[in-house]
Amino acid sequence: MKTCIVTGAASGIGLATVRVLVAQGWTVAAFDRDAGVFEDPRVSWQRVDITDEAAVDAAVAGIAARDGGIAGLVNDAGAAIAKRFVDTTVDDLRRMLEINLVGSFIVAKAVVRAMQAAARGGAIVNVASTAGQIGHFERSAYGSAKGGVIVLTQVLAVELAGDRIRVNAVSPGPVATPLVDAMHTAAMRARWTDLTPQHRYAEPREIAEAIAFLLDDSKASFITGHVLNVDGGLLTAGLMP
Ligand code: NAD
Repeated sequence: MKTCIVTGAASGIGLATVRVLVAQGWTVAAFDRDAGVFEDPRVSWQRVDITDEAAVDAAVAGIAARDGGIAGLVNDAGAAIAKRFVDTTVDDLRRMLEINLVGSFIVAKAVVRAMQAAARGGAIVNVASTAGQIGHFERSAYGSAKGGVIVLTQVLAVELAGDRIRVNAVSPGPVATPLVDAMHTAAMRARWTDLTPQHRYAEPREIAEAIAFLLDDSKASFITGHVLNVDGGLLTAGLMP
């Protein structure tokens, strides 16, 4: 049995990832602070807040004991805000860092401990964002946190290669999920679509497929420390037609 923990599994990219991984034969331990959204014999749901270290440690240890180890982790749970820097409070920044960066750190730490104990290697995929790589308007707090996720990914790749644990990130551009529905106004939507060479938002499944590829130890066996942009060309765009 190959078990993967997916955080943020109850919505958006995380939910699409659960579906893609199950279709590829994974057993999925789905973590979210919200309730699970469907029943499947290969998916177990647990309500876990990723910023609660004791709860995460207990949940991860329980899965490792149940399944005899953990082969994969998708650190997807996250939250975003859109505010000009002058309106962003220190509390906004702390909240973004806590959910997106500290939460990912906490879950990775618990999973790496289990992977090292089992000594069978593994793969971790962190969900970053194009906002963590360049200066998107109104993303000082969120972008800083996602930039941290990218460096965390690179450091873990270096430190854990000796344990045969690969660590990569996907960096989505705009994706049609509940998070974005709540945050993007019609004007923002038009601007993002205009600036993206493929002129649309991604479907969550398109990010999930990239995550599943990076998790796959036969397909992505020599890829570690990589940030895979899944952004319709947003970060590569220069002069557009
Ligand atoms: P979403 O809001 O649809 O799903 C996020 C899920 O994470 C929710 O189910 C939520 O309950 C869960 N979650 C949030 N905080 C949690 C916590 N503390 N503990 C446990 N679960 C928690 O959002 P999404 O758009 O699918 O985003 C998923 C990831 O993708 C996030 O890390 C987000 O930053 C990143 N991302 C999204 C986009 C986009 O355009 N949608 C772009 C780039 C990156």
